[in-house]
Amino acid sequence: MELNPLEQALHTARALVMADLAAGGVAEADIVSLVEDAVTHRRWWVEQWPEGAEFIAGLVAQDVQDALLERYGRWPLCPACSAAEEPHALDVEPELGPDPHWVCTKAAVAVAPVGALGEVPRR
Ligand SMILES: [Zn+2]
Repeated sequence: MELNPLEQALHTARALVMADLAAGGVAEADIVSLVEDAVTHRRWWVEQWPEGAEFIAGLVAQDVQDALLERYGRWPLCPACSAAEEPHALDVEPELGPDPHWVCTKAAVAVAPVGALGEVPRR
């Protein structure tokens, strides 16, 4: 069965965020449910506004980041800065746009596309 474009966007967003969680070693069962909650919420959102489908991955990443901050702590921690720096989280840019990336606002660098944190060498 072909997924419709909205379901495809949601499916992709879920996979990208799960990959980044796994890269940080935090893909635990209760955290997976946070991702499911975010995807469910954004399914409703994108049904209201189908033009927003290409923004879904960045939005789900930010939703999960916010949910984790309350229950788990900062995520994802910046792998780009030296260990001497205070640990700090990456931000998603653009906040509302296609092709989202994790950026370090401290060093002003794009660290990785959302979904590719596992490919970033750690210092
Ligand atoms: Zn940094």
